[in-house]
Amino acid sequence: MIDLSGKVALVTGGSRGLGRAIAAQLAEVGADVAVNYLQNAEAADETGRLIAEQGRRFIVCQADVTDREGVKAMLGQVAEELGGPDILVSNAGIISDQFLAFMKPEQWESVIETSLTGAFHCCQAALRPMMKKRWGRIVNIASDAGLMGDLQRTNYAAAKGGLIAFTKALAREVVGQGIVVNAVAPGVIETDLIADMTDKQREQMYQLIPAGRFGRPEEVAPLVTFLCSEQAGYITGQVFSVDGGLRM
Ligand code: NDP
Repeated sequence: MIDLSGKVALVTGGSRGLGRAIAAQLAEVGADVAVNYLQNAEAADETGRLIAEQGRRFIVCQADVTDREGVKAMLGQVAEELGGPDILVSNAGIISDQFLAFMKPEQWESVIETSLTGAFHCCQAALRPMMKKRWGRIVNIASDAGLMGDLQRTNYAAAKGGLIAFTKALAREVVGQGIVVNAVAPGVIETDLIADMTDKQREQMYQLIPAGRFGRPEEVAPLVTFLCSEQAGYITGQVFSVDGGLRM
C-alpha cells in the first residue's frame, strides 16, 4: 500500500544500524535515498548496495551533522544529484555515558550537538525544498531515554527529550504547508551503539522489557517508513515508542 515512488529521502547516519535498515526499507517501497555518514564510507556503500538492489537510485554523502555548513553542502548535493529531499529521517546519534557527577563537558556537548543540534541543522536545511513542494515528511529518531531517562545518560536523555519537544514545536509551524514532523523513540535495539553492553547488563535489561529481548533495526524501520508515506499526512507532532513494551 505504501508507495514512495518519485520521492527522495535523506537518512542521516544511514551507514549502519537503524539508519541502514530505514534507508533499505524506504528504497523497498520506492524511494530514492541519500545515505549520510560521518566516517564509515565502506558501510555507507553497503547501504547503497541494498538500495540499488531494490532498483532505486542512491548517493552516499559524508557530512558531520554538527557542522552547519557541511549539512548545507550535503543538502545541495542531494538536490543536485537526486532532487528534493521530500523526506528527512534525522537519525544520526551517539552516546557518551557517564554519571553526571563525573561527566566531562565534552561528553555533554558532543551528545547534544549530534542528536539535537544536528537535527536542527538538517531539518532547517531540508525544509526549504519541502516548503516549495508543499509536501514533506520528517521523522526524528529520538529514544525512550528522552521520555523516561536512563542511567548515566543525562546528556543523551536531554538531547532526545529536547528532540521530542523540537519535533512538536516544528510540527506546529509547518503542518499548514503539507509537512508533517514526528518522532520515533526506540527502546534498546541491537546495533553497534549498544555493543559495549556486558552480558550482565543485557540480562538486567531483558528483565525490564516485557518482550524479554532487544529489538532489531528491521523492527523500527516499518513505522518510520509509514510516517514517511502519503497515508501519514494527518499524523504530526507525535512520538511513537518501539520498545517491546519497555515504556508501557
Ligand atoms: P549506530 O552507532 O549503529 O550508528 C550511528 C550512525 O550515526 C552511523 O551511521 C554513524 O556514521 C552516524 N553518525 C554518528 N555521528 C554522526 C555525525 N556527527 N554526523 C553524521 N553521522 C553521524 O547507532 P544506532 O543505529 O543504534 O542509532 C541510530 C539512532 O537511533 C541514534 O540517534 C540513536 O540515538 C537512536 N537510538 C538507538 C537505540 C539503540 O538501542 N540502538 C535506542 C534508542 C535510540 P558512521 O558509520 O560514519 O560512523
